[in-house]
Amino acid sequence: MAIINRVLIHVDDCKGCGLCIDACPVNVLDFSDGLNSMGYRPAHYIGEGCTGCGTCFYTCPEPRAITVVRNVEGLAKDHCPHCNATVKVFPGNRDESKTFCVECLKPVNK
Ligand code: SF4
Ligand code: SF4
Repeated sequence: MAIINRVLIHVDDCKGCGLCIDACPVNVLDFSDGLNSMGYRPAHYIGEGCTGCGTCFYTCPEPRAITVVRNVEGLAKDHCPHCNATVKVFPGNRDESKTFCVECLKPVNK
């Protein structure tokens, strides 16, 4: 099975600088059509082709704006109370006992 990676943009933490878009070696990031709550046009993932290289994460000046999730298919599933659906979840950077929804990025447990 092919490994599927995903880059998650935390929309309201993005300042729309475009550095990640320019830096992505496989050109899978672009600007969104709309604006975020701060009035910036955030980056977004076009939906496929991310290699999980992490270049966008290391390029972004905003520490909370980008999360790169490698091997999405290999992640555990849990119920996300925000999406009200069973979704893939990824562990937190600082506390792996806390997991987050790959769809809405919000915590699924306490
Ligand atoms: S992890 Fe690499 S391939 Fe994926 S969006 Fe970021 S820069 Fe592009
Ligand atoms: S580098 Fe960070 S702040 Fe700039 S557009 Fe990309 S996600 Fe947004």
